[in-house]
Amino acid sequence: MTAETAAPGAPAEVESGVGPTAPRTSNEVGSVRPTWVSDSRVARWTSWVRQGADPDAPVGSQTGLAPWTLEPTAAVPVSTTVDVTDAVRSARAAHADWARTPFRERAEIALRFHDLLLAEQDEVIDLIQWETGKARFSAWQEIGQVAALARHYGRRAEHYLAPQKRRGMVPGATVVKELRVPKGVIGVISPWNYPLYLGVGDVLPALLAGNAVVSKADSQTPLTLLWTRDLMARAGLPDDVWQVVTGAGGVTGAAIVEAADFIMFTGSTATGRRLGAQAGERLIGASLELGGKNPLLVRADADLVAAAHGAANAAFANTGQMCIHVERIHVHENVYDEFKHEFVAAVEAMRLGAAYDYDVEVGSLTSTEQLATVAEHVRDAVERGASLLSGGRARPDVGPLFHELTVLEGVTADMKVYDEETFGPVVSLYSFRDDDDAVAQANRGSYGLSASIWGKDVRAAEALALRIRAGAVNINDGAAAAAGSVEAGMGGMGDSGLGRRHGAEGIRKYTDAQTVARQRWMPLGPPPGSSVERFVHATTKQLGLMKRIGLR
Ligand code: NAP
Repeated sequence: MTAETAAPGAPAEVESGVGPTAPRTSNEVGSVRPTWVSDSRVARWTSWVRQGADPDAPVGSQTGLAPWTLEPTAAVPVSTTVDVTDAVRSARAAHADWARTPFRERAEIALRFHDLLLAEQDEVIDLIQWETGKARFSAWQEIGQVAALARHYGRRAEHYLAPQKRRGMVPGATVVKELRVPKGVIGVISPWNYPLYLGVGDVLPALLAGNAVVSKADSQTPLTLLWTRDLMARAGLPDDVWQVVTGAGGVTGAAIVEAADFIMFTGSTATGRRLGAQAGERLIGASLELGGKNPLLVRADADLVAAAHGAANAAFANTGQMCIHVERIHVHENVYDEFKHEFVAAVEAMRLGAAYDYDVEVGSLTSTEQLATVAEHVRDAVERGASLLSGGRARPDVGPLFHELTVLEGVTADMKVYDEETFGPVVSLYSFRDDDDAVAQANRGSYGLSASIWGKDVRAAEALALRIRAGAVNINDGAAAAAGSVEAGMGGMGDSGLGRRHGAEGIRKYTDAQTVARQRWMPLGPPPGSSVERFVHATTKQLGLMKRIGLR
């Protein structure tokens, strides 16, 4: 995709200390608005926003700011809470037919969506970059992940949800099946950092399980989700089965939680806690994918060059705005200095910049709030005595929300960056004595999302993984190995969340289990007119016999 060049918008200088060295930067700032994005295309996408249900409410609009320049993107209508209720009502009406649609037909839509997405990926990659400011490869990773999920659930959904035969109390006398029944309307609320992957990846299994979906587009990145909704229509999805609403989380997001039958939420732990309580009040389920403060451990036997490059990618992919990115690196004391040298060299070779091409490795932060948090964590750490090994400054010369890739050493428990999620391009180095010390360091704090262990002794690394409280542990990989394995569950322990996406659990959670049991000969109980005492004796003997012959 070609790009006009544009000067960065008015730079917002953010002071956060000065590092001894800085990563290479690209001064080329890509176009603010991809040249192919016409007003008519925007109008087509925004026509998917549910609005206008309340004739007395004026139709408002919201406009995001493109992070590379802080210029407005495109105005998108804002839904009201009445629109949300209306969307859930019509989604519920559409759900009845959709749930009866054969699996094969639902799966064909997902597989057609897969093909269309791959064929038209350049468009949505541009939109993702425009709305988030991330590097192109980080945007492409969303395509890879969503395509893998569409294919996986397109092929496996029926298997995951197939009726299961169960044994009755008296084998042969009762025929038992456990069925999976769609919950109804799933509310999906997702953040701006992966607007395609998190906006659509959790919608696909919900739809394939026979549910209707009402999604809230994040206020920063609505166009990406609306583009995808449009593509899904072209893949054959009926209109009312997937509805999109917009607006502030505390308003339209909260209204979804009040009306839907299950909530799939991705975002901060603070919001997740609030939503979980709201869902609990209504006795509906919620899957909550929340924050993290993810550790990476380098054992003494690790390949240090590979570990340094893996750690640099895991810390700075998606500009560090990734729930599973690494914020803490714990290194065995015997190899600490050597690793540090390799790691800082790997970080400083990473290209920071803004461009619609694959040459830039790390993009911009997405919002002024994110930049402010990053700057504050670095300032606080440096002021309290941490050392900057690399980076440390905002880079308004590259773009208003850019920040250098920052490596800290000497971080202590009184610093914000020690345990609080930064969610940006900042990582701290620590050393450990032995495995017990490594486990204690890795498990500190309340999060438990993702971890990584590097070492040549794979059995020792796997044994260590069992001792780490994290929903995923990657061995000799920073974060992508587990997250990219869409057949395996992904989610958090502790304050990092409840429930799992991907794999069997990622689709079964959108269903209720229903047991259908048919009694064949006689009811389970004393036959009419017979002695209850005799029945109890006979059944007790039978239970003992069944255990002896191994039937139960
Ligand atoms: P956030 O503030 O919790 O917002 C996430 C989404 O929830 C947004 O769409 C937001 O809407 C909406 N929202 C906010 N308040 C709400 C409420 N009261 N009711 C319903 N919806 C509400 O999170 P964020 O700071 O934007 O996102 C970054 C966080 O997400 C980080 O902590 C990161 O670790 C986490 N995350 C976790 C995962 C994972 O899989 N575990 C993945 C990615 C990110 P608006 O912003 O439009 O108002």
